[in-house]
Amino acid sequence: MEIDILTIFPDFFRGPLDYGIVRRARETGLVEISVHDLRAFTKDKHRTVDDRPFGGGEGMVLKPEPIFECLESFGDVEPREARLSAGASQSVILLSAQGRRLDQTLAAELSALDRIVLICGRYEGVDERISEYLADREISIGDYVLSGGELGAAVIVDTVTRLIPGAVGNENSTRQESFTEALAGLAELAGNGPSSTCISGGLLDYPHYTRPADFRGMAVPEVLMNGNHDQIRNWRRKTALAKTLRNRPDLLERVALTAEDEELLNQIKLDRIKLAQASTDGNGASPVSTEDLSKRDHGKN
Ligand code: SAH
Repeated sequence: MEIDILTIFPDFFRGPLDYGIVRRARETGLVEISVHDLRAFTKDKHRTVDDRPFGGGEGMVLKPEPIFECLESFGDVEPREARLSAGASQSVILLSAQGRRLDQTLAAELSALDRIVLICGRYEGVDERISEYLADREISIGDYVLSGGELGAAVIVDTVTRLIPGAVGNENSTRQESFTEALAGLAELAGNGPSSTCISGGLLDYPHYTRPADFRGMAVPEVLMNGNHDQIRNWRRKTALAKTLRNRPDLLERVALTAEDEELLNQIKLDRIKLAQASTDGNGASPVSTEDLSKRDHGKN
C-alpha cells in the first residue's frame, strides 16, 4: 500500500511512524509512506499556505492551490469519480472533525485499498473546495477538535497498516481484537485451543495477563492457569462482555449475541446486583464502583 501525507508540518511525522509494526511494515515494503510539505507547492516568497476566511470571522483557512497542486504532482491519483465508484482502489481523505468517525470497520475498508492520501488541515480548517472537488471522503478520529490533522493522519496510518496482511506476525490476532466483527470461518481458523476464545465479535477484547502469576499480592485469575480450554473460553467471553457492558454498552446493541452470551450477560448483571447488595449490607449504603466490580469479577468463572 502507498500512503501519502500532505501537511504544513512534515517534521511532525519524524517519530510516530518509526516504531513497531508500522516501522517493520515500511522496512519490508508492505507500506510506503511519503510525507509532502505543502509549502513546497506555494509560489510566493513567504510560502503562504493560509488566508483569511471569506465572509469574515476568526482565524485562517488553508488555501486550496498548494493542496491541489501537491496531489496533481503525483501524476497517478485516480480522478475523484473513480475513487467514489464501487471497487475503487484509492482514496483521498481529508482529516476533519466533520468527517465520518473512524472505527475498525472503516480502518479495514481502507486497508484493502492500494493507495490512500491523507490531507492534514490546520487553523480553522481547509478551504471547502478540497472536500467538494478533490477529496473523496472526510474522516474524523473522534468527537473532539484537534489543532491539526497530523495526529489523525498518524492514527489512520497506524490502524490501517496493522491490518495489511503480513504486517502483524500472527494475522489472526488482528482479526480477534476489540471491535472486530466476526468473520465467516474465523472460529474454524482459530481452532479449538484457547485462542479460539479471542474473537471479540465486535465487543471489547478480554483482559490479558502475563507472568508473574502473583505480583505484589495481585493474583492472575486462577481459571487462566488450569489449562481447561472450555473454562478459559467461557471466562474470556464473560469478562469481554462485562467490560463491554461497563465501558461501551452501545456496542452490545450492535453485535449479534448468541444465546450463551445472553446467559453470560444475565450472570454478570446478577453478580453485580449481589455485589452491590453485599456492599450495602456490609458497610451502610456505600456505593460499589464498577471498577471494584470488575476486580471482584476476576477469578470467577
Ligand atoms: N473549525 C473546525 C476545526 C478545525 S481544527 C471545526 O470546528 O470543525 C484544524 C484541523 O484539524 C482540521 O482542518 C482537521 O484537519 C484537523 N482536525 C481537527 N479535529 C479533528 C478530528 N476530530 N479528526 C480529524 N482531524 C481533525
